[in-house]
Amino acid sequence: MPVYTSFVVAAANEKRLLVGGDWIDTGDWLEVRSPYSGDVVGRVAKAGAEETRRAIDAAELAMQNPLPAHKRAEILVRVAAGLGRRHEEVARVISDEAGKPLKAARVEAARAMSTYTFAAVEARKLAGEMVPMDAAQAGEGKLAFTLRRPIGIVGAISPFNFPLNLVAHKIAPALAAGCAVVLKPASQTPMSALLLAELEEEAGLPPGWLNVLVGPAAEIGDVLVEDERVKLITFTGSSGVGWKLKERAPKKRVNLELGNATPVIVTADADVTAAATKVSQNAFAFAGQSCISVQRVYVERDVYDTFVQTLVPLVNALKVGDPADEETDVGPVIDEDARERIIEWIKKTSGEVLAGGDLDGELIRPTVIANPGRDDEVSCEEVFGPVCTVTAVDSVDEAIELANGTRYGLQAGIFTSSIETAFRARAGARLRWRHGQRGADVPLGPDAVRRSQGFGQYPRGAALRGPRDDRGPARRHRRPFVAPRDGRTPSRPCRRCDRGLALRRLDLRDRDRRGRDHPLHRVRRRDRPPGRLAVA
Ligand code: NAP
Repeated sequence: MPVYTSFVVAAANEKRLLVGGDWIDTGDWLEVRSPYSGDVVGRVAKAGAEETRRAIDAAELAMQNPLPAHKRAEILVRVAAGLGRRHEEVARVISDEAGKPLKAARVEAARAMSTYTFAAVEARKLAGEMVPMDAAQAGEGKLAFTLRRPIGIVGAISPFNFPLNLVAHKIAPALAAGCAVVLKPASQTPMSALLLAELEEEAGLPPGWLNVLVGPAAEIGDVLVEDERVKLITFTGSSGVGWKLKERAPKKRVNLELGNATPVIVTADADVTAAATKVSQNAFAFAGQSCISVQRVYVERDVYDTFVQTLVPLVNALKVGDPADEETDVGPVIDEDARERIIEWIKKTSGEVLAGGDLDGELIRPTVIANPGRDDEVSCEEVFGPVCTVTAVDSVDEAIELANGTRYGLQAGIFTSSIETAFRARAGARLRWRHGQRGADVPLGPDAVRRSQGFGQYPRGAALRGPRDDRGPARRHRRPFVAPRDGRTPSRPCRRCDRGLALRRLDLRDRDRRGRDHPLHRVRRRDRPPGRLAVA
């Protein structure tokens, strides 16, 4: 098997895989086609289980020489700068392989730059915390603190719809936290990820810290799940695949960012024109292929007609066509299967099609469906296409009940001029927090309920909590238990960490009077990482 050590690829649209700092050609190629024209826009070397194991070996080796925070931050800053320098090229790669309208692809490229910039800031800020032991009487006179350490190798699996920024969302926080990454981008859109890998290498990322594999998902996924050296799997994609991965990896930390069928409520006191304008933008951007795409709109009956009469002309005015055209608002969906499924769901609905509902050539025209049946797919499943439903409701409570009527709960929004209504909707929405529905007056969240959308963490700082692990510094002091200096008779060591020396060194009591675990284990049970928790 020929191995190339340079990041220069044979042709601009032919990419090899990055494993342990080498760009490898496996002899087997995967074609990447434009969802718009069907033309081949690139070829990528195809990986399997063997390359995945090699990538994990390389990541393990890399992590044996940890990169200090300042170096990690500098590399991340240089990647951000590279994304800035090659912004237009990056946007075109996204647009070509994903069929994303160029103007939306430019936004994605800019967002990836921000992702790296924020990660660089976070890399320098990572720190543990003091534990307020004297919050309980038993903790008086005791001192404890945690250190944040890299959790280990991160296995990252990303979807097609944001082929650059969702890859950036995985790589940048992991590297900021000091973790090596084995990435499997979507097979339909691997070119952006490989371009990003080139930028990482140009930025000075040493070999093994980032490995990129493209190939049969189950084969690569199986190795990531089964190999115990991979400590965290971060997955963004469909609910079915995500939950199966989680089931199969009970001993790993698994972050899931899954699907949604975003509901939005428009109350009678809202600015209806503003609401209709925002819905026309956020339901159809990138042909509705975003996890936060507006899908279901519930409008109070008093303003329903006005809302619909404003929305439909705006939707009909959206320009459908070639993603490379600067004017295009709505391009293709990712492939023929998706197109057929969406058209079938539109045909099956009992609602009235007010706009679109059919094809313009190979493209689905932006579709508005009025009052669909509650059990229609367009009402309860994730369409992931240029379709939104509008339903008249008699009250905000009815809207909340309908909004909650799916297995999803990633996010929602409300257009209202009443803060009281906004809070009521918030209290009634079964969501977890993310970044809220961009279009709405008020994004709704947070909530502890975990539904089919998963429970990963995108918000900038929070994303880092995945790849880091809270550990006490006493990990280094693995010695037998020694009697405390105050002369008390030592009882058996702590059941959880089998240590006492570090506490004694700090002239602290090692355990409570009944000889149970270190108080920290009880105080911080909520935050306990998998495996042992050590105490200062
Ligand atoms: P997908 O079909 O689930 O694929 C996502 C990734 O998983 C791809 O890399 C895919 O590889 C891989 N994969 C598929 N089967 C696998 C298996 N058995 N083991 C391991 N990996 C496997 O999702 P998609 O169609 O690309 O993306 C659309 C979905 O992502 C939507 O549901 C959307 O809502 C969700 N999404 C969620 C968020 C969020 O933040 N919550 C953001 C964006 C997208 P292949 O491409 O090789 O099949």
